[in-house]
Order: sequence, then structure tokens, then C-alpha cells
Amino acid sequence: MSESSDQHYVIVGAGQAGAEVASELRKRGFEGQISLIGDESVAPYRRPPLSKAYFSGDAEADSLLVLKPPQLEKNGIDLLSGVTVDAIDRATHTVTLSDGRSLQYDKLALTTGGRARPLPCPGNDLDGVFLLRSLADVDAIRAHCNAETRMAIVGGGFIGLEVAASARKAGMAVTVVETLDRVLARVTAPVVSAFFERIHREAGVDLRTGVRVEAIEGTTKVEGVRLGDGSVIPADVVVVGIGLIPNVELAEAAGLEVDNGIVVDACAQTSDPDIVAAGDCANHPNRFAGERIRLESVQNAMEQARVAAGTMLGAESPYDAVPWFWSDQYDCKLQMAGLSGGYDDIVLRGDPAAEKRFSAFYLRDGQLIAADSVGRPQDFMFAKKLVTLNIAPDRAKLADPEVPLKAFLPA
Ligand SMILES: Cc1cc2nc3c(=O)[nH]c(=O)nc-3n(C[C@H](O)[C@H](O)[C@H](O)COP(=O)(O)OP(=O)(O)OC[C@H]3O[C@@H](n4cnc5c(N)ncnc54)[C@H](O)[C@@H]3O)c2cc1C
Repeated sequence: MSESSDQHYVIVGAGQAGAEVASELRKRGFEGQISLIGDESVAPYRRPPLSKAYFSGDAEADSLLVLKPPQLEKNGIDLLSGVTVDAIDRATHTVTLSDGRSLQYDKLALTTGGRARPLPCPGNDLDGVFLLRSLADVDAIRAHCNAETRMAIVGGGFIGLEVAASARKAGMAVTVVETLDRVLARVTAPVVSAFFERIHREAGVDLRTGVRVEAIEGTTKVEGVRLGDGSVIPADVVVVGIGLIPNVELAEAAGLEVDNGIVVDACAQTSDPDIVAAGDCANHPNRFAGERIRLESVQNAMEQARVAAGTMLGAESPYDAVPWFWSDQYDCKLQMAGLSGGYDDIVLRGDPAAEKRFSAFYLRDGQLIAADSVGRPQDFMFAKKLVTLNIAPDRAKLADPEVPLKAFLPA
């Protein structure tokens, strides 16, 4: 028996980050007790399919699970689901659960993720208005929908656009309303936004940009969405996708440092040496952003969770992974490498205005900082490597689809 066998490590939040912390602790040989506590009633699952294959009925709930009962058992992970951690007492190393129990911990991981931001307008509580974050949310939305449904989606971000594509696939009439003057405005360049606006319009989506929602209308259930320009979109179902609020209240009440997320260092350590945090809830220093940032992606949840598990075991190694992300809409797969914020130049390979296969490369001071690729997985694969290497590529070669990105790697 090793020294670690009498230790109890507790993980709060049973999403992808929490599941990965638990698995990684075992991979690294931790022999003590692991409790993984989650307030949802299911085992940890992947959220990306919620707006994609699961929404359109092409994937079963079971296929979303990341830790199934046999894996939990094999790895000796005690999953406590349907239970909320209500308080952390750092002095006594104790967490209090919503079912009245309290657990003593040696090390604690906070992987509490976030919750969907509600739409702040009259009518947001009418029957037929939904947020989308969990399996339960999608089950509820789907129970309200059929091919005749008129769906209004508030928010032209990834979740809104993916739901729009899935709903069109199911035959529904879909309107998307975005306050900013283009979709995906916070994450991509105007040329990439224009591409996604084109494919949605071609698929029959009524896309309204530069207009805000004033109210959701109806007596007991949704009948329409009233916009700032006075128009009303008739709707039976409204799906709101306007961002995420990080779940930080538990950490804050325990006196941990919080600032747009639970503040951690490069090793996922919070302001308490016995508490780490990772995933959507964690505000961390990120060299690709050049500042502190909170990322909302599977890549970050998984890779930061592994760093956090190492830190719990005293094997600290800084988180330094290139951020990446993907989105599936209709027959288009967008893959993003790096973070494009602060770019001063953009180089296109392919023509987003005419094709469904292109890459947009983002440069700052001549250096490649990010790439968005649609239907060019090889570009994405090599862009991930190039972004970490501070390469300053030749613009003409970068634009030439005949020059493989591999050619830019140092010999
Ligand atoms: C519809 C949708 C589509 C997405 N698509 C993509 C995609 O294509 N690509 C991509 O990279 N990312 C995508 N994401 C984002 C990605 O799923 C998240 O970044 C990832 O799930 C974050 O994992 P997490 O474990 O940090 O947080 P979460 O998944 O939020 O898990 C945290 C869990 O902790 C629970 N919890 C919180 N507080 C407590 C408490 N006090 N006690 C007990 N339990 C608690 C929460 O209820 C939740 O179950 C998508 C997200 C959504 C919602």
C-alpha cells in the first residue's frame, strides 16, 4: 500500500473536467478514495452532441457518457449524482452536501463548469422558452418540437447556430436573432461569419442580425418574439443561446479568489494549496491569449483537468496546450486552432464566399496565431502545431492550397 491509499480526493462537478480529473488520478497511480460529486442525475457526459447529433436524434444518450458504470467501478470512482455540494469549509477540509452528508477531503478539485445565461426580457419564463446546457434541457426541448414547430433561436453563437442546423434538419421553420451585426462575432473574423450566414440562409434559416429581442410574447406559452425594430416573429418554441455564467458561487463563499471564474495559476492551483480548479469555471493564465482567460471547450476541460490531477498529486507541470475547438453545422465542420483575438492580418486559402472548403489564417506582427478551417482537416492539424511554434509564414505560400502546411514546420 502506498502513502496515498488513506487519502480522500473529492471532485465537485461531474462534467468532462471532473471525470477527467478522476480518471487521470487513477492513471497516475493514486490509490486513495475518489468521490466525484455531480448535481445532474446522470453519469458524466459529453455536451457537444447536445446541439448536434443528440438534438437531431442521430445519437442516443448512452453514447454521450464518458464514464459508464463499469468504468467507474473498475477505476474505483465513487460517483455521487443528483447531489449538490453546498459549502466548503477550508479550515476543517470538509464539504457539505445537499442530502445532509458531509465529506472530509485531503485534496479538492472544483470542476463546476457553468450554467446558461437567461434572456433578460419580459416573457422569458413562458412555457416553450428554453436554455440549453444539459441533457435534460435538450430532452425538454425535443418533447416540445415536431416537424411543424416554428423555432426562434436567440443568439448567433455556436450553440444557436448548431441548434438552427439541427432544427432545419428536422424540418422546423427556424429564425435566428443576433444582437450584434454578424454571427459568431466574438470568436471569428467577418469573412468566416459571412460564410456561416450564407450556409444558414441557403438552408432556409431566417437570420436577423443587428437587432435585439425586446420581449417574448404569449399568455401562458410562447406565441412570438418581439424585436427592437417592432417586428414580431411567430414562434412555438424559443431556444436561448446567449452565453454562459461560470459556477463560482461555491468557491467565492469559501473565500477563494474569483474573477470571471475561479482564479488558478498555470498548474490549476487556486488560492488554497489543497484546492485545484479546471474547465469552464477556471480563469487561468494562457500564453496563447497573452493574458488570463476562461475557456469554454472540451480541449480545455480535458487538458486542464489532467494538469489539475497532477497538481493534486504534487507533480506540478504547467498547462500550456494550444486551444482548439470545433463546430458542426449541416455538412460543414469548422475546426479552430489557437486564439484569433488581436489579429492584424488575415490570409485566406480557398474562397469562403463561394466554397464550403477553406481556411482563414490569423496573423499578428507576421506570426501565425490562429486558423479557422472548414473542410480542411489537414490545415487544422498542422495549424495546431504551427501556432505553438511562433512561425512567421510567407503570405503567398499560406494562401496557396497547393502548399501543404507541413512545409512551414521547421526541418
Ligand atoms: C450545447 C453545447 C455544445 C457544445 N459544443 C462544443 C463543441 O463543439 N466543442 C467544444 O470544444 N466544446 C463544446 N461545448 C463546450 C463544452 O461542452 C464545455 O466546455 C465542457 O463541457 C466543459 O466541461 P466542464 O466539466 O468544465 O463543465 P460542465 O460540463 O459544465 O460540468 C460541470 C458540472 O458540475 C455541476 N456542478 C456545478 N456546481 C456543482 C455543485 N456545487 N455540486 C455538484 N455539482 C455541481 C454542473 O451541474 C455540471 O454538471 C459545448 C457546450 C454545450 C452546452
